[in-house]
Amino acid sequence: MSALVKLTDVSKYYGNIKALEGVSLEVHPGEITCVLGDNGAGKSTLIKIISGLHQHDAGTYEVEGEPVRHTSPREALDRGIATVYQDLAVVPLMPVWRNFFLGSEPTRGRGPARRLDVRKMRETTRGELLRMGIDLRGVDQPIGTLSGGERQCVAIARAVYFGAKVLVLDEPTAALGVKQSGVVLKYVAAARDAGLGVVLITHNPHHAFLVGDRFVLLKRGAMAGSYPKTGITLEELTRQMAGGSELEQLSHELAREG
Ligand code: ADP
Repeated sequence: MSALVKLTDVSKYYGNIKALEGVSLEVHPGEITCVLGDNGAGKSTLIKIISGLHQHDAGTYEVEGEPVRHTSPREALDRGIATVYQDLAVVPLMPVWRNFFLGSEPTRGRGPARRLDVRKMRETTRGELLRMGIDLRGVDQPIGTLSGGERQCVAIARAVYFGAKVLVLDEPTAALGVKQSGVVLKYVAAARDAGLGVVLITHNPHHAFLVGDRFVLLKRGAMAGSYPKTGITLEELTRQMAGGSELEQLSHELAREG
């Protein structure tokens, strides 16, 4: 079976700055591919290419075996690739259900009598959150009153409901504490169990190792490694993310004499 998303030797230049060079990765249904890297590693650039915001300059990008060159996020979304950004685009004062359907509101009636189908939106939102096991106090509260983790969970449930095949998550746990991170990772796993292919961008090797099936390490825009879960240990992943040999060198330099 072909991968949902397959990047082969993808490069991206901004003028003469190499943001990405020779990056390859695969995303399969029911699997989580983690992309790890420090600041400046090229993670955002990679997300922008997958989500259709930017186009790659070299290499190939395939969706279900078909080479693509998305020219907009809408085009990527139409192919089933949904991206949840860290700074979620929500309207804080609107209720959870309104945000769940933002931009895709169902209506009832015709002509001048046409209006938003509030009941359907409320019930669907409640049902979908429950189906993923997301326990909110209620769907009528303004989304701005939810915690960052809860908002991420709503965004994940939304992508699943609207039929995404691939879910791209931009550092969903970066701004969260330990407990909330755990909750978000649980729903990332729920999306995987629903059969989606997930791309999890993170700089936290512990979070990646908890849920990941494949790991792609980026360093200054290039691939620093690509491993299946059985091919790497948490210790090694952590060491590589911590800068590995660079940190050892630093520790040597910082060591006091005498
Ligand atoms: P990360 O998300 O891992 O921090 P980025 O993808 O943002 O990394 O950046 C990768 C490299 O590309 C960096 O050197 C960054 O300065 C450069 N870069 C990113 N976006 C642009 C841009 N729009 N114009 C010029 N250089 C950019």
